[in-house]
Amino acid sequence: MEEKNCFPCDEPIIDKAPPCPLQCHSPKCKAYMSRAPVDTSKKPIVWILGGPGSGKGTQCEKIIAKYGFTHLSTGDLLRAEVKSGSDRAKCLTSVMERGELVPNDVVLELLKEAIIAHAEQAKGFLVDGYPREKSQGIAFEKTIAPVTVIIYFEASSETLTKRLLGRAASSDRADDNEDTIKLRLKTFLDNNEQVLSQYPDKLRRINAETSVDQIFDEVQKILDPIVAKAAAAN
Ligand code: ADP
Ligand code: MG
Repeated sequence: MEEKNCFPCDEPIIDKAPPCPLQCHSPKCKAYMSRAPVDTSKKPIVWILGGPGSGKGTQCEKIIAKYGFTHLSTGDLLRAEVKSGSDRAKCLTSVMERGELVPNDVVLELLKEAIIAHAEQAKGFLVDGYPREKSQGIAFEKTIAPVTVIIYFEASSETLTKRLLGRAASSDRADDNEDTIKLRLKTFLDNNEQVLSQYPDKLRRINAETSVDQIFDEVQKILDPIVAKAAAAN
């Protein structure tokens, strides 16, 4: 087999799955040890949280249109990975076929790789619907970079159920029926408060029961100053 060295640190590449995002995964890799994949003073990382149906997808589209942020949805990343046919994809497919949850470190690795892939040209990152558990948030900040701000879309279970049933009528998402919705809401509520309570200083709550435009006004009040500060640092 051909010997290859890691580009940033010149350590030999170690054959390990998932591969080191900086290629080598060597404990001696200086880049891997010391460099966050993205400088968040220039490229803010925003977590978009809220129950299923709270409008995360809707608001993310508007945020991308205005600010040009790169959208990272773990569901989309997993689906894309499965389609890619990589060794990791084969492993993921078999996990999913057994009906088990994809391990946290795989999801995190996919997020990190996506951030590295867009680190140069991105204006900032929108992480949609992640972390779902307290431990995922801790792992993200430890492995990738500190989060800049967390936007939480707050809505009652009744509103969420109503909207999801509305979405079900016009989409082919198999998980938008009443029983699955109840289950998803419960899982969400069980974990959510624990996630939010970790970040009292970075958390911004928005009432998501109002109109799409009213919500986006609130989003802009949060993001405008953050984007201005990042622009000044670039
Ligand atoms: P999420 O990504 O958080 O699950 P979506 O953005 O997919 O939520 O929105 C779920 C459903 O609710 C969609 O049908 C969407 O059109 C609708 N919706 C989103 N925001 C609002 C809002 N502010 N008012 C009413 N309906 C909304
Ligand atoms: Mg969504």
